Amino acid sequence: MFLCLRLTIFVAVVLCACAPTPTPPATADRFNAPRQQMVAEQIRARDVRDVAVLRALETVPRHEFVPVEWLAQAYEDHPLPIGHGQTISQPYIVAAMTELAQIKRGDRVLEIGTGSGYQAAILAALTDQVYSVEIIPALAESAAANLKRLGYTNVVVKNADGYNGWQEFAPFDAILVTCAPDHIPPPLIAQLKDGGRMIIPVGPVGGFQTLRRVFKRGDQVLTENVMGVLFVPLTRAK
Ligand code: SAH
Repeated sequence: MFLCLRLTIFVAVVLCACAPTPTPPATADRFNAPRQQMVAEQIRARDVRDVAVLRALETVPRHEFVPVEWLAQAYEDHPLPIGHGQTISQPYIVAAMTELAQIKRGDRVLEIGTGSGYQAAILAALTDQVYSVEIIPALAESAAANLKRLGYTNVVVKNADGYNGWQEFAPFDAILVTCAPDHIPPPLIAQLKDGGRMIIPVGPVGGFQTLRRVFKRGDQVLTENVMGVLFVPLTRAK
């Protein structure tokens, strides 16, 4: 009996020693520390509180969405060029807009202005159906390829003029617009679900823009102004 117990302990010890090393979490990259620092100093410090949003910002590898020449600044507190005269938004703006959209799992979300695909990846961490429209063909193509390479199977990207939304998949629980029109496009309001939220910067090209949150409640459309922002303009297809 005593021998048997000793044997069991021995076997258990040998088994433990041979157990495979756990796979490191996806965040164990050389950018993990700057990413956590970004969330602490730029996002939490500015009062973004939604735990799921913070978790998404802590895990989505922003450095995979910036051009290689800007890699060293991937987690800094400003937008960065992504080519074609466009930018990936400042991390805080991405976080604030995502929190305002109050996304929960199962929501169907539309983004206008795919750009690098980073905001789409953040949304894809929060729900399972993300649709994103980009007007510049090369950006739509590279963002779609990058999202696929990184394993985001729940984002669909289309090259089109997002002013018209994406009728085929409407209505949406949330719409995020990451380029600024000078008025709220009526098709986007029409494609918002009853009870849905739209986060959209509105203002003249190069001028003062206001980030707005639009709620649709039955026939009513309620708009609140959130803060001043500076986005690239929403351009129209010719
Ligand atoms: N959300 C992006 C930020 C992109 S910047 C990111 O996470 O990187 C805004 C983007 O909106 C640009 O790529 C620009 O080409 C695109 N855009 C401008 N007008 C548009 C329109 N009418 N429809 C769709 N995309 C548009």
